[in-house]
Amino acid sequence: MERSYLIKPILDAVYPTIDYGKGVYLYDKNQKDYIDGSSGAVTASIGHGVPEIIKAINDQANKVSFVYRSQFTSEPAERLAKKLSELTPGDLHWSFFVNSGSEATETAMKIAIQYWQEQGIFTKNKIISRFISYHGITLGALSMSGHVGRRERFIPLLEEFPSVSAPYCYRCPFKLTYPSCDLLCASELEKTIQRMGKQTIAAFIAEPIIGAAGGAIVPPEGYYQEIKEICERNDILFIADEVMTGIGRTGKMLAIEHWNVQPDIVALGKGMSAGYTPMAATIVSDRVMEPILQGSKVIMSGHTYSANPQSAAVSLAVLDYIEKLQLIDRGHMMGNYLLHKLATLANEFSFIGDVRGKGLLIGIEFVYDKEKKIPIKLATVVIQKAMEHGLLVYPSSAGEEGITGDAILISPPLVITKEEVDELVTRLKRALVEVEASLHPTDGG
Ligand code: PMP
Repeated sequence: MERSYLIKPILDAVYPTIDYGKGVYLYDKNQKDYIDGSSGAVTASIGHGVPEIIKAINDQANKVSFVYRSQFTSEPAERLAKKLSELTPGDLHWSFFVNSGSEATETAMKIAIQYWQEQGIFTKNKIISRFISYHGITLGALSMSGHVGRRERFIPLLEEFPSVSAPYCYRCPFKLTYPSCDLLCASELEKTIQRMGKQTIAAFIAEPIIGAAGGAIVPPEGYYQEIKEICERNDILFIADEVMTGIGRTGKMLAIEHWNVQPDIVALGKGMSAGYTPMAATIVSDRVMEPILQGSKVIMSGHTYSANPQSAAVSLAVLDYIEKLQLIDRGHMMGNYLLHKLATLANEFSFIGDVRGKGLLIGIEFVYDKEKKIPIKLATVVIQKAMEHGLLVYPSSAGEEGITGDAILISPPLVITKEEVDELVTRLKRALVEVEASLHPTDGG
């Protein structure tokens, strides 16, 4: 093979070269097929090679691909903002377009701080987040992220933002059990606000279901209601990071709608353009926009490609496609079916500790011993074996060995059929059987 100058995630690893994709399948240059069981990085949510989206790309490129947002607005960007204001709950009416999830959460952080500044309050500059969490790789987003592995090299450059425990019932940080725990993980937020002083805190950020750092951790009932009340009581904005969970991934447009809680700001990415182009957004409520509109009237952020017509047209076509095929409901149904099949499969393997999730965002956490829940580092080998058997799954860990679990995410495109779910589970089982055979009796013990 010719020498490669591409910097890959692991430089000496060998990656297959992709040729093309169709529906939930990807094909490499050697004609091997893979079920895209993770939608890439939980992104390709309507599957590959959808003609409607390709047409939208061509149509827009034929008109104009790029204009700069301080010189022109465009019909696709205006229509997309309007569509999102209709599709998202409550007064989440305003869209600021960016190009990645990290930019969306970092913009959310800046807008939250600005919201207080516009009212003459300049001390509210900190964002409380959770350990475990992932909000992005840029320094602001990483400062809010509870992900040891991704932070450790850059700690001197990161803001010292406070964090609270995640609602991780499978490994309760307080060693308690729901509901007798009285949702201590939620009330810890109020204690932290009091300890830091509410005059220093701008917002609390959370992924409604923890994805890349936790493996689809779903909080217990009542958690978000209590979080919202604490935020309101203490004058703290609530930012929902829906970069992974948004646009139907969990069976609702936004995952936070499972709990009927209204965020002040929402970050979207990934599924917004389903991978057909880089596109993300920070969605802002009327409440937060009001003092900005009355005050400085500018958001001091933005990127060259923000609100470019090409990406906006793609995202609009993706949202139309989701609506036309009722993919949120379909994904929800397939998610229930897949969750059930995976929970059954878990009984066959001693190293599957937990299967959880909502819609088509499902996590499988690995353990050395089901009863003692001792974590075992197995995600990498499972991913490798699954790939050999023609299935893509996604790693999920907060990178702190021995404390949090090691998990994979299974998150196929929302268009997946029942037969394709069956084939996905068959391929996963083949991989797991090989993983089991390779386990040494003392692994992880
Ligand atoms: N927030 C969440 C919840 C995410 O899952 C991710 C990506 N995994 C990000 C933010 C960052 O998005 P991006 O990689 O597009 O910058």
